[in-house]
Amino acid sequence: MRENKSEILAEGILVIRSGRKTIRMEITPEGSVILRAPLSAGRSVLTRFVRDHEEWIRKHQDLVRERELKLATVPALSDAEIMELESRAKRVIPAKVESIAAAFGVSYGKVRVRILRSRWGSCSQKGDLTFNSLLLLAPSDVLDSVIVHELCHREEMNHSPRFYALLSSRCPGYEKSRLWLRQNGSALLRRVPNRRGEREPS
Ligand SMILES: [Zn+2]
Repeated sequence: MRENKSEILAEGILVIRSGRKTIRMEITPEGSVILRAPLSAGRSVLTRFVRDHEEWIRKHQDLVRERELKLATVPALSDAEIMELESRAKRVIPAKVESIAAAFGVSYGKVRVRILRSRWGSCSQKGDLTFNSLLLLAPSDVLDSVIVHELCHREEMNHSPRFYALLSSRCPGYEKSRLWLRQNGSALLRRVPNRRGEREPS
């Protein structure tokens, strides 16, 4: 099968190119737009396609927003649920880190897993990794992409084009996961009451 290529066309619009002949548009459950397009379709053609379908996009995004308003009233996690989540995260995340790092032949230091207020993960100069326990409430692709992101910092300690080239070679779906976090991340962080927040590593 031919490998799909993805790119961001504009804020909230992901293009996935493949051997298909026509352009097809989808709205994800999070309200972002995915354009499935032929390999040869130019960005101006795709931009015009989006402009021609603006009304359709707006209608569907309104539906998503309505649903999000309902979701915003989802109660925060209880103390018991947070404890359960944290203990599960401390089991699951380090094991995933170990197997993903082994697959890429990358080394790392300590792994810390806890609830963070605004970040999903970090990698220190020494190679110690920290991950947000709340990632366990995201789709597993999203958790994997954050782990791959931090492990790529073991080779590129920056967010340069070289870093992103490495990341997308190791995690072809990372753009989609990044969109998911951009669309849903703040709702996820809101599920923990403020008093539970731990100070983040600086
Ligand atoms: Zn990073």
